[in-house]
This record gives sequence, C-alpha cells and structure tokens, in this order.
Amino acid sequence: MQILFLGGVDEVTGSCFLIKTSRGKLLIDCGMFQGEKEEAKHNFDQFSFDPKSLDAVLVTHAHVDHTGRLPLLVKEGFGGLVYFTPPTKTVAMLILEDAQRVMAENAEKHGDKILYLPEDISRLKTRSRGINYHTEFEPIPGIKAMFHNAGHILGSAYLSLDIPAEEMTSGQATRFIFSGDIGNDAVPILPETEPIDHADYVIVESTYGNREHEPVAVRQEKLQEMISKVIGRGGSLLIPAFSVERTQELLYALDELFDQKKLPKVPIYLDSPLAIHTTEAYRQYKDYLQFDRKILSSPDADFFSFPNLKLTLTQQESKTINNDHRPKIIIAGSGMMTGGRILHHLKRYLNDEKSGLLIIGYQAEGTLGRRIFDGASKVMIYGDEVDVRASVEAIGAFSAHGDRNKLARWLVPKSGEVKKIFLVHGEEVVKVDFKSFLQDKVSSEVIIPKFAENFEF
Ligand SMILES: [Zn+2]
Repeated sequence: MQILFLGGVDEVTGSCFLIKTSRGKLLIDCGMFQGEKEEAKHNFDQFSFDPKSLDAVLVTHAHVDHTGRLPLLVKEGFGGLVYFTPPTKTVAMLILEDAQRVMAENAEKHGDKILYLPEDISRLKTRSRGINYHTEFEPIPGIKAMFHNAGHILGSAYLSLDIPAEEMTSGQATRFIFSGDIGNDAVPILPETEPIDHADYVIVESTYGNREHEPVAVRQEKLQEMISKVIGRGGSLLIPAFSVERTQELLYALDELFDQKKLPKVPIYLDSPLAIHTTEAYRQYKDYLQFDRKILSSPDADFFSFPNLKLTLTQQESKTINNDHRPKIIIAGSGMMTGGRILHHLKRYLNDEKSGLLIIGYQAEGTLGRRIFDGASKVMIYGDEVDVRASVEAIGAFSAHGDRNKLARWLVPKSGEVKKIFLVHGEEVVKVDFKSFLQDKVSSEVIIPKFAENFEF
C-alpha cells in the first residue's frame, strides 16, 4: 500500500492524498489551492494521476481547500463514487457552486480561465454519497473506511482507513487516520473532536502547530469590546468571515451578546450569499451541532439571527449598505480578503480611522488579509492604493483549528501508540516547530513529507 502526498504539503491549501493498493486507488480530499496568483495557478495543473483510474474519493469536510477540485475530477473522467457525511455533501455543493460563480464572474470581467462548469458540479452530485459518522463502508472491497467527528465545521470528519494484512509489507492489518482539519476546543456550536481509538499511522494537519490559542471563553469579551469601541466612536466594523462555520459562530456569539443586552442595537449586515445559504444548511442539519446554550432560552428561538440582522443576498441589496451611514457591523467574505464583497467594504472603510477591521480567521501567506494582519500601512484594492487607518485587531479564539496542544492531545490514541505521524497542511516553519514540539510529547516518529513524495507501507 502506498500514499502519495499531492497537496496541502508545501502549503496550507489544496489538500489531496492518493492511496494505492492492489485492489484499487482512493483519493482523500481534492482541494483548491488558495491565495493569490502563484498558488492559485496550481489549480489548473494536470492531476499527476489519471482521474479515470480512481475507484473512489473520500472527503473529510466541505471547505474549498479540501473540495475545490472535485468537479475537475469528474470533468476529467472520474467515474466512481464520492463519499462525504450528509452535511458535508450539502455544504460542499454550496461552496462549489459559489466558487464556480466567482470564476465565471472573473472570466467575464478579466478573462480569467474557468476550472469547471455548473454541469460538472451537477455530474459530481450524481456520484456523491452521504455516509454518517461511525458507519463503516468499503470504498474499495476489503478496505474499510469510517468518518469520525473532527469538531472543525458542520459535518467535518477525520477518516479512518483499515487496510487488510495482505496489502501491507508488514503483513499486518493496519489503521491509517487522515485528520482533515481538527477543530478547536470547546466550540460553542459543535461537538468535541472525537479521540482516536487506535491508529498505526496518522496524517495530521498542522495549521496552528506552533501556536496556542486564547481560550474560547475570551471571545465573547473581546468581541463585545471591539464592537463597543468602534461603534462608540461612530465607525463601522468590518468582519471578514469564512462563510462556513466562522460566520455561524459569529452570529451565535452576537445573538448571545444581544440576548444579554451587551451590545448597542446597530444594524448588522450579513453580506454574503454563500454565508446566508450555509446558515440555512446549519439550521437544516442542527442535529449535527451541539449548542452550549439551550435553544429555546433564546427569545427568538434561533441561534443565528436577531432583529437587527440584515441579510443582503442580491447585489442590489448589498449596494444598499453604501447608503447606510450609521455605525454598523458588516460581515462579508472572503475570510482571507482575497475576493468577495468584503473588498468593496475594505475599499470604503479601511482608510477611515473611526472604523475597524476584526480578523477572526487564519490568514494564509500571500493574501491581502495576511498583509493587513502583518501591519501593512497601505494595500492595493481593485488597483487602487488604500491607506490602512482603521484599527485592526484579531481574535484567535475564533479559530476553527485546534492549536498545538489540542493536536498533540488528539494524537495520543485511547489504546496503543502511533508508529508514525505525518505533518501536512501547514507552512514549512510551522511544521518544523510542531515536529520538535511533538517529539517531546509522543514517542512516534514524526515526518514532514514533501510534495509528491510517495511512502510505501
Ligand atoms: Zn477546514
């Protein structure tokens, strides 16, 4: 049995692993490379395998860096099935449709290339199967797979693969775990990450492998503080938010602060069609969520809305925000400020010293968000130079990823020991730090694979 590391290796995005056995081939995740020009160009690279030769694809969670190239597989002849948890399947399709729409818009405006068409997404849907957590299935006969709750976003999973003895050079049946993305501790709307029962090899993300988050409990306090400060001085607060999970957690946090009458009743705009649709999916699959407050204790019995929340679905509705000169909060994508409606708002408010920008998510290298987060005094938006005069703050506790302590704890199974741990999905320096951090805590061998590196087991 072999694993080929094809993405999420030298960078944080573009997760993709190819599993080769004598019984067939599997792909785990098929993500888009994000960031600006250089990284994004890789989305158009040929797959280094023939999609027609794959038997099945397993998807850990809906985020575009794990799903964004799935329609391309189908477009290039993949004829097998794609497995997701049911909420992941629903949310992934919303994300892919949104990504396609953005590509089509960019093609029209700037002549950019399009990765796939709506019909490729339709064909992907017909090959998609929803499988619940803890339900064993065989994507290839004899190879058993199971989704386990990763606590990262709605429906997110880590995956166990049980490979039979005759496929292994050791001659012993072996369990592999692919982490997908592992969630933060004590997320107010999600169940906790399940501990690993047992595992021989673990392929683990390392997004925050060199960081320790502030406790989730401080997020309410900091959020309230930042809102009060910016609104108090008559400014507008922009919150770039990933449409999936971060937005819903933010709405949930705001709902609680309003219930407790801790915030001024300013207008709050949710200016993102994807976030609006995804919030609907969160309601649809609320059985997969776990709230830290009782749902009916909330006066409106809905955790994701409050009276002053305005949903601006269409572009026309979005434009009305420009006519609202009152202090306000605007939540819009994209989370790393690489595109989407947030850019219009940044262009308008970033040079206003009364206004504020609140960063609540990971900002990858090479993104506008990262440049602002790192303290740039001027940035380019839509070809114009904009001075950064608004206050910029970040709340790490909103992270959807576990920090190094969480990951290290998760990597210790309930029984036995992990032989080897492979670090993926992290910047190089972070992985190097995380490796030495882990080596003090676990006895497993820790490996940082290179792009396209092949490991035989
Ligand atoms: Zn993710």
